Amino acid sequence: MEPLIVANWKMNPITLAEVKNLFNSVKNGIKNIKNAKVVICPPFVYLSNIQYLKSNIKLGAQDCFWEEKGAFTGEISPLTLKNLGCEYVIIGHSERRKLGETDEMINKKIKAALSAKLKPILCIGETGEERKQGKTFKVLKNQLKNDLKYLISNIYYLKSLIIAYEPVWAIGTGNSCEPREAKKVYLFLRKISHQLINSRASYNSEGICSGSANKLLYGGSVNSENAASYIQEANFQGLLVGGASLNAQEFIKIVKSIDPAPILQNNCFAAHGGRIGQSRLAGQYYSY
Ligand code: PEP
Repeated sequence: MEPLIVANWKMNPITLAEVKNLFNSVKNGIKNIKNAKVVICPPFVYLSNIQYLKSNIKLGAQDCFWEEKGAFTGEISPLTLKNLGCEYVIIGHSERRKLGETDEMINKKIKAALSAKLKPILCIGETGEERKQGKTFKVLKNQLKNDLKYLISNIYYLKSLIIAYEPVWAIGTGNSCEPREAKKVYLFLRKISHQLINSRASYNSEGICSGSANKLLYGGSVNSENAASYIQEANFQGLLVGGASLNAQEFIKIVKSIDPAPILQNNCFAAHGGRIGQSRLAGQYYSY
């Protein structure tokens, strides 16, 4: 499973010229990358401009509505996103939750996105206060349960769902989650998502799983210094990058830092418990 690096441009850049410049710089900088998949989520209005700038970068949106079409002023249909070349859509970002988006709305959006054959990137995360009160796991479990209500236990339906752990206190603060702490959350989420989604994927005690498991991403003040640790130490299958994705050189460094050594996902325990496959660590191949 190749790591997924998702750039969330949020409400930036302001001009089309800057958008093209940023996109083309990233495209050129990562053209030789083999072992990571890169997704860019620009503001909606730029999707059609980027769609035609040929590259191996995938497109994503930052939100979608839960209806397919109709009288919903200002909203965007998942079907429109699909037609504009989007493969992914971020849903339930904490910046949207802060504006009043509820778990119920998020649940409907996930359902609509899946129906439109988009891959939802569901964002969950605890606030600084909840973390201080030791409620991190409880908050994450509740968010997952409510956001996936009526969708759970349908492995076929949910197999393209991606879950991004985005501690609210780490977003845009420069205060990233220590990989050791992130790993504890990763293992918890791996267990919970496995139970909720009724996945048949298998994983070992490190949470390293087979290819059929849902991808879990980390997001929150990722930069080129800390990016690799979330994949290599905490075992996440990718990253959601906000601020640092607006600086082409920094974002390219993040992607390159992941590229040489991430292929741990084949290092899995098959259902019968035996190790299979081959993995690459720090440029060296290990087979077993
Ligand atoms: C985000 O917006 O999802 C995010 C992780 O932002 P940042 O990387 O700036 O913390």
